[in-house]
Amino acid sequence: DAPDGTLRMAVVGCGWQARAESLPAIATADYCTPTVVVSGSAEKRAELGGTYRVTAIDYEEYAAGVATEEYDAVYVATPNRLHLPHVETAARYGKAVICEKPLEATVERAERLVAACEEADVPLMTAYRMQTAPLVRRLREFVRDGGIGVPLRAGGDFTFPALDGERGPDQWRLDAELAGGGALFDLGVYPLNTVGFMLDTAPVSVSGETRSAGEAFDEVDEHVDFNVTFEHCVGSFSASFSGYPTTRITVQGSDGRIVVDPAFGAYENRDVTVDTDEGHVRVIGVGADETREEFDYFANAVLTGADIEPDGRDGLADVRAMAGVLESAETGRAVRL
Ligand code: NDP
Repeated sequence: DAPDGTLRMAVVGCGWQARAESLPAIATADYCTPTVVVSGSAEKRAELGGTYRVTAIDYEEYAAGVATEEYDAVYVATPNRLHLPHVETAARYGKAVICEKPLEATVERAERLVAACEEADVPLMTAYRMQTAPLVRRLREFVRDGGIGVPLRAGGDFTFPALDGERGPDQWRLDAELAGGGALFDLGVYPLNTVGFMLDTAPVSVSGETRSAGEAFDEVDEHVDFNVTFEHCVGSFSASFSGYPTTRITVQGSDGRIVVDPAFGAYENRDVTVDTDEGHVRVIGVGADETREEFDYFANAVLTGADIEPDGRDGLADVRAMAGVLESAETGRAVRL
């Protein structure tokens, strides 16, 4: 449904994801617009305040309720462990929330984050852009309609080097406290969540192994391999902070198979092949701006009062599954969720 009005959004944390992806998406979306940015950097406040013609404040001002009359909803894009305080502030002022993945750095903090929004009765969405990608939504319908028969097994891999020219060893993603986990929390969450969404199922138990060879990865997993038993099928996944960039999903059913490769980049074309007894179909997904879709979906839901999927509980379920993988890597035993 087309909603009345436009959702006015505050963007909390102006790092890579907020500046390269989310602010441009919010600024061009149909149902929302940026009105406030929150940043610890005076330089960014001056730059973004001018570019987007928005009110720019710092974290202390945000926590103190400055400019609350200028926004209706908050987008949180700070390091994982800072999501909780920034979402709690939004909930305290009665603002709807869209929070970046993974929802938080630990299960206990993710639970508190969800509880804060539930107690304040404000909508909460976990920012899984794959779930608003039109092609992924279409594949979900195809599976639901029996396109590949009964899903039997799934797989997914995401390797994206954490160390490059601009990002050295001194970054929050390699800090266990701020990130919660390494490749698993940052990258593994994509195949885990996207496969669960495509198959409309949830993890029941998990097991996994982690390895870290590089010195920069002494606090967090550089590589993770994990298995997930879902309600109806099994999944086998990997994620790495170093190695040849790889982003892939496979789903095999009783009567067909889907391969998405590449799968997760926001910029690259999504290449999908579907094989069934009916034949072989290849679709290159071009042109859809899933981040803009994500914010339009969120704003539309908030303005119309519709249910949100993925909500906070979906994000929390993934943090539980990932914490289970890390526990299994320690104990060598599968973890029931
Ligand atoms: P960046 O490091 O680029 O940005 C994080 C920003 O958070 C900083 O620039 C800073 O903004 C703010 N910040 C506040 N406190 C701290 C602190 N103590 N240490 C570091 N930064 C701090 O990270 P990303 O933008 O890549 O990631 C942010 C969030 O978005 C994460 O949760 C990540 O998982 C998620 N993400 C999601 C993606 C997706 O596709 N959905 C892709 C990439 C990331 P300022 O200077 O304005 O205060």
